[in-house]
Amino acid sequence: MSTPPLSSPFHCPLCGGHNQCAMAAGRPPESCWCMAQPIAPAALAAVPTAQRGQVCICPACGTLPADAQQPFAGPQGSAPI
Ligand SMILES: [Zn+2]
Repeated sequence: MSTPPLSSPFHCPLCGGHNQCAMAAGRPPESCWCMAQPIAPAALAAVPTAQRGQVCICPACGTLPADAQQPFAGPQGSAPI
C-alpha cells in the first residue's frame, strides 16, 4: 500500500488516517461523526493553517482522551459504565 497524500480530503492532516468525513464521502453533513462529537480545540489548532477548513481531522485526533479534557456529558447525562 502506498502512503496517501496528506492533502487528500479523506485523510486526517494530523495522523494521515481516514478522517471518516461524511461530507468528503458525499453523504449528508449531519451524518458525520463531527456532528455528534465535540472537536477538541487543541486538535483544530494543530491543523496546518493551509489545510484548516479544507480537510477534516479523524475522530481519534479530533476527540481528546477523557483524562486530557473534561468528557462531554450527554444532554440527559448518565454516563455509560
Ligand atoms: Zn487523525
